[in-house]
Amino acid sequence: MTRAAVLAGGVGAARFLDGLVRVLPPEDVTAIVNVGDDMEWAGLHISPDLDTVMYTLADMVNPETGWGLRGESRRTLDRLSELGGPDWFMIGDLDLATHLFRTHWLGQGNPLSTVTRDLAKRAGLELFITPVTDDRLRTMVDTDAGEFAFQDYFVRRRASDTVRGIRFDGIDTAQPTPKVINALLEADVIVIAPSNPFLSIEPILSVRGIRDAVVNSRAPVAAISPIIGGEAVKGPAADILQSLGHDVSALGVARLYEDVAEVFVLDETDAPLADAIEAETRMRVVVMPTLMTDVEAKMALAAGTLKAALHDG
Ligand code: GDP
Ligand code: CA
Repeated sequence: MTRAAVLAGGVGAARFLDGLVRVLPPEDVTAIVNVGDDMEWAGLHISPDLDTVMYTLADMVNPETGWGLRGESRRTLDRLSELGGPDWFMIGDLDLATHLFRTHWLGQGNPLSTVTRDLAKRAGLELFITPVTDDRLRTMVDTDAGEFAFQDYFVRRRASDTVRGIRFDGIDTAQPTPKVINALLEADVIVIAPSNPFLSIEPILSVRGIRDAVVNSRAPVAAISPIIGGEAVKGPAADILQSLGHDVSALGVARLYEDVAEVFVLDETDAPLADAIEAETRMRVVVMPTLMTDVEAKMALAAGTLKAALHDG
């Protein structure tokens, strides 16, 4: 039996997990998901990364965007626009049910992890999906135009501002959800998914006890680069590397993970960087295709990552 724990943001992580549950029994997989992107929108609690993971694994995701539901409509949002908003956040008609369900049960006093488990169960999922914390944690992005809550920066302002710094509101008091530390300590392998290092992975590692559990776990830790050929597959990861003064490359990412990971999965495009990364960090570099274009590619990346991490050499 191989138990895997995966630190997960949204789209990149969801695609990786979709491959992983096809090469391992899903019940042996724990997804520890970022909640720094969560927000209240029109009174509803929205957890974008949890929903992206859930919709992807349940084969309900919109394949064009990688988030939201397939076959979605926007009648509610259009009517909301006619009323004058708020309409800057895309909430589909079906997606709305998820947010109503979550908000309702949170309002009844249930923790986010319990509501997430219930949603995953209704979706027929066997892997364990959990928010990293049940407590309020909000990523705040400092930019040249001022500080914004994550979704303000990312959706409303289309990630167009230059990022100067990032902080996690609530990080001093946020506690990990009950099963998360054990999942890390008992894992046979820990994977840092190809997610945004600053906006998805750091808010997970920063929760009290998480970084220590990852480092102290007997499991090997493998990180997959979200940067291929100096560019993000999607999203602002490359821009943020640049504006925060890091190398805009997989090497720049590797430096961010050298204290927590021992294996670094590098895209074949970046094979020429392998020697430099191994020389500079203490990580073992493995090179493979990492672009998850279809289900075979997802499975190959999952299998290749497990093999690289579990191999003793
Ligand atoms: P978000 O919440 O959707 O922004 O989710 P993540 O943080 O999980 O994903 C964004 C990161 O995933 C970006 O930096 C992308 O470059 C990376 N990513 C997305 N798809 C892929 C892929 O197929 N391969 C790799 N290597 N990275 C990917
Ligand atoms: Ca996200």
